[in-house]
Amino acid sequence: MGYDIVIIGGGPAGLSAGIYASRLGAKTLLLEKLNPGGQITLSSEIENYPGICEVKSGLEFMGCWPEQAKKFGCEIKSEEVTKLSMENEKWIIETHKNKYKAKAVILATGSNPKKAGFEGEEEFTGRGVSYCAVCDGFFYKDRVVAVIGGGDTALEEALYLSKIAKKVYLIHRRDKFRAAPHTQKKVLNTPNIEIIFNETVKKVIGKDFVEGIILSSNKEIKLDGVFVFVGMKVNNELVKDLAELNEYGEVKVNLKMETSKKGLYAAGDVRSDSVKQVIAAAGDGATAAINAIKYIEGENK
Ligand code: FAD
Ligand code: NAP
Repeated sequence: MGYDIVIIGGGPAGLSAGIYASRLGAKTLLLEKLNPGGQITLSSEIENYPGICEVKSGLEFMGCWPEQAKKFGCEIKSEEVTKLSMENEKWIIETHKNKYKAKAVILATGSNPKKAGFEGEEEFTGRGVSYCAVCDGFFYKDRVVAVIGGGDTALEEALYLSKIAKKVYLIHRRDKFRAAPHTQKKVLNTPNIEIIFNETVKKVIGKDFVEGIILSSNKEIKLDGVFVFVGMKVNNELVKDLAELNEYGEVKVNLKMETSKKGLYAAGDVRSDSVKQVIAAAGDGATAAINAIKYIEGENK
């Protein structure tokens, strides 16, 4: 099955690329392994995308992006890409079910949550350890939880959980947060969030479900759930032997979103120097699509 452009990943970068590429007349296929929408669909709120004058959940915000792409002719299939290679100047994109050919590929595979690395983290995932407050927060109604991390995600999700849980411990390994000052202020003004600085979680304790945590100072806290928000790891597996990466494993691009490999573009969280925001991912997707079309038409060779 041959296409002009195959887009891998259906988050804000991939869907924006899909809208632009198909609207500009390219035969476009977008492959997404989960539901389209990307990681923002795990977020309880988005309020910093221009035009969003009322706070929305990530899921609601991303709701119509796939429809918009399909309206212009972008095909969207629910398939995980397992291999990317080049044969006779055509890109070969393999999934568990199919093999596709394309003149250009846009990699928009985004990023995934990192593990914090405490004892019991794997064992208790889904049994009190979570990486998604929107998905699991409700299980902790009127209960006690901990949030680990000091970035925007940790603080925003601690605020979200403070409206559901009786108490939220916010545990950060340093004594300064990285999150936006506006969000820090909100956290400081929330009475049921207790901040614990200069500590990490050593281990979780419990039988079938989490019953407590032991901190690096050996202090024990009884609680029901642990939410981990300690940053993201970029999904570079498909191209790590094909294109140049930077020291963080991000795919190196220039201002056209071109990677070191001709006809291969990277957009969104997966590319180098991304500010890892929805607006930036969407902009990258549009830039990559416009330049991929120029490449196909012989302008960007
Ligand atoms: P992603 O959204 O990660 O999408 C990548 C997609 O690719 C995923 O759907 C994935 O399933 C798919 N994929 C990966 N590998 C494959 C494969 N091999 N085959 C097929 N599909 C694949 N940003 C803001 O601007 N404002 C916010 O308020 C905000 N809040 C956030 C809250 C949370 C909890 C998190 C985690 C992030 C938040 N961000 C926010 C950051 C924002 O979500 C990301 O910057 C943005 O989603 C990146 O978009 P992307 O399309 O590059 O990647
Ligand atoms: P992040 O900014 O990388 O923050 C990760 C936090 O986790 C840091 O505070 C870090 O501590 C801590 N940490 C890392 N590893 C740890 C470990 N093993 N144990 C304990 N703590 C650990 O990640 P993020 O908050 O997920 O944000 C990712 C990107 O998305 C950022 O660019 C962010 O701005 C963006 N984002 C934006 C919004 C928004 O605009 N509203 C919302 C969410 C996310 P140190 O501080 O000591 O390094």
